[in-house]
Amino acid sequence: MDKTIASKRVAEVELSKTVRVPGVPENYGDPDVDQNFGGGATVPQPGGNTKTTISGNSNTKVKDVDGRPLPYGPEDILMHEFTGHVFRRIIGEGNGDAIDEENEAREEMNLPLREFESNPPHPR
Ligand SMILES: [Zn+2]
Repeated sequence: MDKTIASKRVAEVELSKTVRVPGVPENYGDPDVDQNFGGGATVPQPGGNTKTTISGNSNTKVKDVDGRPLPYGPEDILMHEFTGHVFRRIIGEGNGDAIDEENEAREEMNLPLREFESNPPHPR
């Protein structure tokens, strides 16, 4: 965490229904945050910066480790994006196992753990 705090890279957050992906022509149409990314996406930006986009909606498809529906609001989505994607990227360590990283934070906060997903965007 010290390296993350010391990083000069910028982690930007926006609220939007779609995600702009650098390098993808605009006429392709920007992907929908809810339909394509479960309510949140973190996209690498030039210079090692990151941009996280959340829709502000809940994700109703997330399950806990016992397979039960896990209440998963925009605050959970934002926590996932930061613990699972932003922190590693801004120190140049790429993507780790985002759900494992999220679950470490959930454990510290005594929140139910999130189930691993075998489908993209989180294959192990
Ligand atoms: Zn993720």
